[in-house]
Amino acid sequence: MKTGQEYEDSLRKLNFKVFLQGQRVENPVDHPIIRPSMNAVKMTYELAHDPQYEELMTAKSHLSGEKINRFTNLHQNTADLIKKVKMQRLLGQKTASCFQRCVGMDAINAVDSVTFEMDQKLGTEYHRRFTHFVQMVQTEDLVIDGAMTDPKGDRSKPPHKQTDPDLYVRVVEKRHDGVVVRGAKVHQTGALNSHWILVMPTVSMSKEDADYAISFCAPADAEGIYYIYGRQSCDTRKLEGSEIDVGNCQFGGHEALMVFDNVFIPWQNVFMCGEYEFSGLLVERFAGYHRQSYGGCKVGVGDVLIGAAALAADYNGANKASHVKDKLIEMIHLNETLYSSGIACSAEGTRTASGTYIIDLLLANVCKLNVTRFPYELTRLAEDIAGGLMVTMPSEKDLRHPEIGKVVEKYFNTSSSIPTEWRLRILRLIENLTLGTAAVGYRTESMHGAGSPQAQRVMIARQGNFEHKKKLAKKIAGIPVPE
Ligand code: SF4
Ligand code: FE
Repeated sequence: MKTGQEYEDSLRKLNFKVFLQGQRVENPVDHPIIRPSMNAVKMTYELAHDPQYEELMTAKSHLSGEKINRFTNLHQNTADLIKKVKMQRLLGQKTASCFQRCVGMDAINAVDSVTFEMDQKLGTEYHRRFTHFVQMVQTEDLVIDGAMTDPKGDRSKPPHKQTDPDLYVRVVEKRHDGVVVRGAKVHQTGALNSHWILVMPTVSMSKEDADYAISFCAPADAEGIYYIYGRQSCDTRKLEGSEIDVGNCQFGGHEALMVFDNVFIPWQNVFMCGEYEFSGLLVERFAGYHRQSYGGCKVGVGDVLIGAAALAADYNGANKASHVKDKLIEMIHLNETLYSSGIACSAEGTRTASGTYIIDLLLANVCKLNVTRFPYELTRLAEDIAGGLMVTMPSEKDLRHPEIGKVVEKYFNTSSSIPTEWRLRILRLIENLTLGTAAVGYRTESMHGAGSPQAQRVMIARQGNFEHKKKLAKKIAGIPVPE
């Protein structure tokens, strides 16, 4: 397993082509806007070497028997699925942001079982190739960026009917030694902190879409791949050189537009090419795993938010007010409800044909649908408890100013035992989680990440088994039920 430092060094060796605010970034690792996101991924390496977290952060590879970072593991039982969620909660607590590495973990698990089943049915050899890839990922302890979401253009049309044929990633040329692909993937989490990319199709497809039914892996800095970095609310505060105003200056997440400009992929790295009838299954499984993930990561970030809200109440002298206590209890209730479904879908997991375990899809979709709502209520309650100062207070530069600093100190102090700076720090952290850079991961991503709420409703409708429930009711009500 790599150490945090080895991970950072390995990223420096990559030759990324990145644009940020209209400019080419030569060194993404040290760029002040990007760096905190690298720190968050680095934490997934550092904690794996901490004996305290060994049980959660590491696993035994079923391929090599070696100890590996759990982010590269293929889940071998329901205990693995549960540990995954616990690991994500831990990392959410340690970073208060998106630590990005889960998309790759979820992608390898989904592609593993789907390629196995494809080979069984069609006699293809995708699973052998894929296992080779996973072996490399485990031995070299790599970060993989699972890439699913295409730009999708006009939502009323399938891939092959789009006016611009590149709006879904597609094969533009098949050669004896591989394929050439073109297109883009949008809001790619952790793209610039990843070593390799694992591309999957984004929707169920028909025969006419066969060129779009493509899955492959590629080095993140391969020829023809480039990135356009996504903006986040308040991101340029990281350029001001102040620490308090950023709210969480150590950690963050990032998303980018990932462009494939005629990229050559050798056959050994292709895991689906034209088997359109398996694209829906791959989408369903990847989405299922990532919906489970949110029952861990968002809960960990929620723990930090609840802690910050409780501190804000302490610092304001409002911690004894019964309505404040009540709101904090409500926050815990909501957060633990998210966790419950994350754990439940893991405990109810089952074995797929390849041996890799998958979550209960109904419960994973319930988990994610809860996530589209509860963090909004949690942020509402945190803002309520924090008070308006979290969005109106002066900057760190004012606090540090030789003259007006004293004024800031005087008017924002609440108790002689609590430094004013502590109060400002906690309020900025709440601002960061609810409105700032971390709100990307905690709020809007809670809505749309791993699929928008309607996608979960569709899956819940499909998995909910209404007919079974109708039969139960008929029996109780004395209506004849044909056996
Ligand atoms: Fe992991 Fe959560 Fe970020 Fe997805 S949103 S990559 S599950 S931390
Ligand atoms: Fe996500």
